[in-house]
Amino acid sequence: MDDQKLTMLVTAFIVITALWEVLSGRTRDGRKNQQDWRMAFLATFMMVAVQRPLVLLLLTLGLSTLIPGSAGSLAWLEQAYFWPTLIVFFCVEEFIHGSFHLFAHRRRPNNRVLQWVQAFYKMNHRPHHMSGGLDNKGQLTVTQTFVNGWAWWLIMPNYTFQLLCLYLGLVEVFVIGTAFKGLWAAHTHVNWNYDLYFHNHRWAWVRKTMWALAHILVFPTQHHHHHARGPNSARNVTSTLAIYDWLVFGTLAIETSKPNVYGWRQKEPEANSVLKRYFCWDVRPYVPKAPASAATPSQPSA
Ligand SMILES: [Zn+2]
Ligand SMILES: [Zn+2]
Repeated sequence: MDDQKLTMLVTAFIVITALWEVLSGRTRDGRKNQQDWRMAFLATFMMVAVQRPLVLLLLTLGLSTLIPGSAGSLAWLEQAYFWPTLIVFFCVEEFIHGSFHLFAHRRRPNNRVLQWVQAFYKMNHRPHHMSGGLDNKGQLTVTQTFVNGWAWWLIMPNYTFQLLCLYLGLVEVFVIGTAFKGLWAAHTHVNWNYDLYFHNHRWAWVRKTMWALAHILVFPTQHHHHHARGPNSARNVTSTLAIYDWLVFGTLAIETSKPNVYGWRQKEPEANSVLKRYFCWDVRPYVPKAPASAATPSQPSA
């Protein structure tokens, strides 16, 4: 399988569906603004040109020094058991992705250190949940797929896991697994909700089949609801395997209509500046204030 062809396939899918969104009017009337376009180019470019090569370089340098000869040492595995290796790779990667994505969304932990860690995740994930401008007319479009803050791909261990497998010699598994995941994730971000046709079909067996399938895989409306404003934003945290949302995380939300409002509420500076959205540094607004008892020095007892 040709690595470049598969990468091209994902790129072609995003370009074609982005064009379709424009031509069919799905980017008009505030659904998508200039900042969304700029952010998509910046974040996707940085992911491909900086973060991915950087993580791979660090892994290669670190592991080949610590464990000489480890590069390519698992190549035999995909040669002997290609499909089982691909399936395990996919399920493990998606599980790590779902867990850490959920961590960025879930309620604040009690532990103070974890609160800071979570704040850093939240801050970096925030751009993924910003659509359109301050008028709340923004919607989800395909170019949002890889939009996140500058550190997101460095702190998501699923990304390191993917590249670790590549380093260990699971080249085909890496290429096919990540291409499929990228393609599926992109398709759930497109401004379409074809699954609603089946969810609301007049024949019960069609509705039931769609309902069942939505427990296994993530369809566009499920991910659109992850981008909704409100409680559903903390649900549907997986990108492909909804079965984890259903059975492991307890976060599955299947709706039969589109969200009313997309995206988290934006502050004025970030709404107007892509650089402020992407290069977010100030983690403090995302950390809860220390409880009064911990903030004040110990008081002399009466
Ligand atoms: Zn999210
Ligand atoms: Zn998304």
